[in-house]
Amino acid sequence: MWRIFLVFKDVVLNPFWAFTHKIPIFDNSFPQKLKRMQRTEIQQLGEFALIEKVTQGFKLQNKESILGVGDDAAVIDTGGEDYWLLSTDMLLEGVHFDLMYSSLKHLGYKAVAVNVSDIAAMNGIPKQITIGLALSNRFSVEAVEEIYTGIRAACENYQVDLVGGDTTSSRAGLVISVSVTGTVPKNRISYRGKAKHQEIVCVTGDLGAAFLGLQVLEQEKQVFLANPDMQPQLEGKDYIVGRQMRPEARTDIIHELRELDIVPTAMIDISDGLASEIFHICKHSESGAVLFEDKIPIDGKSYEQAIEFKIDPITCALNGGEDYELLFTVTHQDFEKIKYHHSISAIGYIIPKEDGIQLKTRGGNMVPIQAQGWKHF
Ligand code: ADP
Ligand code: MG
Repeated sequence: MWRIFLVFKDVVLNPFWAFTHKIPIFDNSFPQKLKRMQRTEIQQLGEFALIEKVTQGFKLQNKESILGVGDDAAVIDTGGEDYWLLSTDMLLEGVHFDLMYSSLKHLGYKAVAVNVSDIAAMNGIPKQITIGLALSNRFSVEAVEEIYTGIRAACENYQVDLVGGDTTSSRAGLVISVSVTGTVPKNRISYRGKAKHQEIVCVTGDLGAAFLGLQVLEQEKQVFLANPDMQPQLEGKDYIVGRQMRPEARTDIIHELRELDIVPTAMIDISDGLASEIFHICKHSESGAVLFEDKIPIDGKSYEQAIEFKIDPITCALNGGEDYELLFTVTHQDFEKIKYHHSISAIGYIIPKEDGIQLKTRGGNMVPIQAQGWKHF
């Protein structure tokens, strides 16, 4: 009776009683309810529209939260000279990696590098990481140690501290989720959305290699599955395979930009392909852009591999993913300081929004760039 009274009191006084009270709730009508619910396929909306839709009702409630959802990292002001940055990225077995060809060490390294890359994209320096790990009983202690050897190598390379995490069991393969913090002086932060008309669009390193490395690994996997005595033919493919398996975040460029006193007016890291990322910069900056096909940096090895696969190399650069290079815009004045930099290429410039996002081909035609990127759903 006393218990019934307690439940009654909770229902009346607290509309969220079901969440707050420790009475187990069984609802076997849930599958039927799900059937009756209106159903929009996630695929139909796409990743970015989905995030926008579910997060739009959230107002930032704390004065320290300067920027929430929408950039490469959240921005937090704790009152010092620097902003704090916070970002999360997850790697899932079967979606982001395949243990038939990903080494556990490389996987650990990559999980950290892709997170550090989001801090770099805000012009920040990474500081701490936490690691969420979901493991099935397929993994041994030694296997987990291998993952952590890679994580430790990345921590040493990027000078970040591993400060915590969470470990749980998984029924659906390995999941590694990393959160990273970083700092950036308040006057040096680069958002996605401050690119201005006529500024120069730059990219670091070269593009398309990670995508082509993945295609090579997938091809060799199929050969191996058809005939397990066949060993993978990876001679001469180290560069592109390495770019897929063990990408690097460009913190080196962030340090150099500081030394040269350059603050990119907009910046993003290239995780989903150049087309998708220039689209984000333009959308957030309310601008358009022209990119020159012949200026987009593609390594000779990537070029050869693309031709071998009969894919246009420029398509790999535009729509391949996981390069983790930086795409940024600078003023003409700042560009003067980096125009001879060996690892930075000027690939285009910002134009008015009405003129769209265009690729000027080698043949001199203007072709609209479609933001294809990776399809997660
Ligand atoms: P990136 O490719 O730079 O890691 P994403 O495309 O994953 O960025 O995310 C874009 C923005 O959306 C980021 O600000 C990220 O924090 C936010 N975001 C992504 N997924 C979610 C989610 N499930 N809930 C809230 N915010 C999210
Ligand atoms: Mg990013």
